[in-house]
Amino acid sequence: MKRALITGITGQDASYLAELLLDKGYKVFGTTRRTSTVNNERIKHIEDKIQIIPSDLLDQSSLNNAILESEPDELYNLAAQSFVKTSWNQPVLTGEFTALGVTRILEAIRTINPKIKFYQASSSEMFGKVTETPQREKTRFYPRSPYGVAKVYGHYITVNYRESFNIFACSGILFNHESPRRGLEFVTRKISHGVARIFLGKQDKIELGDLKPKRDWGFAGDYVEAMWLMLQQKVADDYVIATGENHSVKEFAELAFRTVGINDWEKHVVSNISSHMRPAEVDYLIGDYSKAKKVLGWRPKTSFKKLVEMMVKADIELEKNK
Ligand code: NDP
Ligand code: GDP
Repeated sequence: MKRALITGITGQDASYLAELLLDKGYKVFGTTRRTSTVNNERIKHIEDKIQIIPSDLLDQSSLNNAILESEPDELYNLAAQSFVKTSWNQPVLTGEFTALGVTRILEAIRTINPKIKFYQASSSEMFGKVTETPQREKTRFYPRSPYGVAKVYGHYITVNYRESFNIFACSGILFNHESPRRGLEFVTRKISHGVARIFLGKQDKIELGDLKPKRDWGFAGDYVEAMWLMLQQKVADDYVIATGENHSVKEFAELAFRTVGINDWEKHVVSNISSHMRPAEVDYLIGDYSKAKKVLGWRPKTSFKKLVEMMVKADIELEKNK
């Protein structure tokens, strides 16, 4: 039985990855950090099948201990301060978690068992103010937020430990991926949840920032399969994971409202709210996943339309039962 350790098991991606690995017969371990109230919402349905180990990205000995206790064949580092907007309010903390946290894990692997295969959750935010379209593995990074900068560090330290110590370390450069389990602060979920509440008569408006930025949005359930595939190859490498299609925030909102039959959607949206605007914006992201397609045999399965519908439907069910 293969063993996997996932950091940040309470997060969106970890919940889908844990399901996938359990299906494949893995023994799954996941780390959680200490919180005053339990936030295991996303893994409630599989909690009895996985083993939780307390550990924090800031605390080296807790990371060492997580590895010693789980003895993993594969380690997926999904933990991070993952919200771009917050990274301007907490830039140092974002660097500690999202950048240096990666080195702490790699150090634990290097000193305890360098044979552990490592996956680092890198991000299309590293491309930021894009220097090439579509963005691929070799596109120059130009991050636009403390989060993006921290992810660039995480990417390069992963590459560096691969080259310095021959650790099987992969960096998955994933474009935005969403699901009904996405955090409520991200724009897709904020919209799907708002639309559901408006449809049910519980709310009238959604307050948003800039509607123009475009993102290459995929489904998280499809993307975790690419993470696993990367660690099954003979050679460790870096891959862009994306859909190759992008849409604006406005298009997302319009489609979400149309899903519930609301066509005069603009009546329900207030845009350019200053508290939701960013000091520096990432205007345009679109990924070229041809390397992943060729080497991993991976391709996205869920269309943009299906993703939006899935999220709105799930939020209607959620809000109906409240
Ligand atoms: P989430 O924000 O849903 O999950 C992040 C996880 O990290 C949570 O379990 C969180 O715990 C945990 N965490 C935060 N800080 C610490 C810490 N100091 N120590 C230990 N654990 C911590 O993110 P996603 O699932 O969406 O993303 C997974 C990874 O992929 C992240 O690294 C993200 O930056 C990256 N990524 C995500 C993309 C996306 O579109 N979703 C795109 C590209 C990259 P808690 O629940 O306690 O807060
Ligand atoms: P990001 O790509 O990781 O920053 O994911 P987000 O979902 O947080 O943001 C995607 C895009 O939506 C960014 O360009 C934001 O500026 C834009 N956006 C517009 N209004 C909002 C809002 O109210 N909340 C968030 N989170 N993003 C918004």
